[in-house]
Parts: sequence; C-alpha cells; structure tokens
Amino acid sequence: MSDINRVLIVGGGIGGLCAAIALRRQGVEVDLVEIKSEWTVYGVGIIQQSNVVREMARLGVLDRYLDAAYPFEDVGIYDLQGKALARIPGQRLAGPQYPANVGISRLALHQVLSDTAIELGTRVRLGISVASYEEFPLDLNVSFTDGSSGRYDLMIGADGVYSKIRGLLYGDSYTPRFTGQAVWRYNFPGIPPSTTWPATPAPKAMPGWCRCRTA
Ligand SMILES: Cc1cc2nc3c(=O)[nH]c(=O)nc-3n(C[C@H](O)[C@H](O)[C@H](O)COP(=O)(O)OP(=O)(O)OC[C@H]3O[C@@H](n4cnc5c(N)ncnc54)[C@H](O)[C@@H]3O)c2cc1C
Repeated sequence: MSDINRVLIVGGGIGGLCAAIALRRQGVEVDLVEIKSEWTVYGVGIIQQSNVVREMARLGVLDRYLDAAYPFEDVGIYDLQGKALARIPGQRLAGPQYPANVGISRLALHQVLSDTAIELGTRVRLGISVASYEEFPLDLNVSFTDGSSGRYDLMIGADGVYSKIRGLLYGDSYTPRFTGQAVWRYNFPGIPPSTTWPATPAPKAMPGWCRCRTA
C-alpha cells in the first residue's frame, strides 16, 4: 500500500463507502465521485449477515452501525402452516458481545457509512462520473464528466452491477445476465421483535421478514 497515496473511488454505494473508510484509516487520500446529484438510497431494509457485522467492526463503525440496526441471531425455516422445520444458528463473528446478524434500513446504512467516510476526510463530489482515463506506468489521469481531471495512483470501480468502469476496462465481457431469480422488498409497519429471521420455502418463492428501522 506504500506506493498508493491517492485513490479515486467511482460510486458511493456500500462498496465504495466501505473502501473509502478503510483507505482513509490507512492515511490514503480519497476522492469519491457519485453520479447521483442527490446522494440517497431507496428506503427498504437490508439483511446483513455475520460477515458484514465482522467487517463493520474492522472498519471501526460497529457501534454506530448497531445503533442504527436491529439484531437477530438465527435463521428459522418454517413450513407454510408455520411449523418450525429447521434453525440455522448465527455466528457471532464480531465478538461474543455483538449480535450475529442485523436488519438495517438502506437509508440508515448509507447515513452511517457516508457520515463516517466524510468525517474521516473523503472528498465527495456528487453528480459527476468518469468520462475517460489514461493509464501510465505508475498512475492514471482521469477526466470527469464536468470537464475537470485528476491524477491518481489507483481507481476503484464501485459503481454497481452495471458498472461503467468495468465496461471501460473489459467492454461487454462481463455484462451481467438475468438468471431468473429476483428479490422483492417492502416496508411493513409493526413487525414484531424476533431473535430469528423467519423464512418459508414455498414452491416458487421464499417469503421472509426482518425488523429494521425505516429512518
Ligand atoms: C432488491 C435487492 C435486495 C437486496 N438485499 C440484500 C440483502 O438483504 N443483504 C445484502 O447483503 N445484499 C442485498 N442486496 C445486494 C446489495 O444491495 C448489493 O450487494 C450492494 O448494494 C452492492 O454494493 P455496491 O457498492 O457494489 O453497489 P451499489 O450499492 O449499487 O452502489 C453503486 C453506486 O455507484 C453509483 N454509480 C453508478 N454508476 C456510476 C457512475 N458511472 N459513476 C459514478 N457513480 C455511479 C450508484 O449511484 C450507486 O450509488 C440486495 C440487492 C437488491 C437489488
């Protein structure tokens, strides 16, 4: 990491923000560009398993993150009549005093990660992206869509599943294909507290619910 002093992160989602926090904690200068001019995310919940809880600890954001989340321990599998079929025990990977898994609203997660990244000195620019870049043996020059440019040791493409950066690097080689599986999320008020995430395998879908804060 010693030759990497200045990094550009393209995309301010979960991946880009986590990378920014980790790099800033190592003292690396970080610019982050996000194409959306209003930096927010849609407000449904996200379920984050024990590996994410562990990594939030490693990023140094665990207390804030847990304050914004609802913990749960196990995954419970039920039949359509509500009979318990199996229980998959959670793993407390962040430490025995921390929960195995959490439900958290995407808005709250975005707030925790973006506040931390900015407090640590990440320079965020909204409403712009990368237009093109030119590579040199040791670094690269990036031209942005607003006409500005910058010189970086490393550029990280964290611009999501339809990544423009991946397209600039590899063309159409890794364009995602729909595999037939989809997830549908909705916020319902009044979900009761539970230490289990209940899921019910049904013929064509698997409904489940998880508690999280909506704001
Ligand atoms: C319906 C649904 C439910 C899901 N549920 C879960 C779950 O319960 N648990 C879980 O762990 N995961 C879940 N996921 C997956 C999770 O959302 C993704 O793995 C995660 O968001 C990926 O993070 P990312 O930073 O790579 O991309 P994203 O979160 O998509 O962020 C990419 C960012 O880059 C920005 N951007 C895009 N193009 C450009 C550009 N050209 N220039 C600059 N910025 C750009 C976008 O505006 C965005 O802010 C779910 C996904 C979906 C769709």
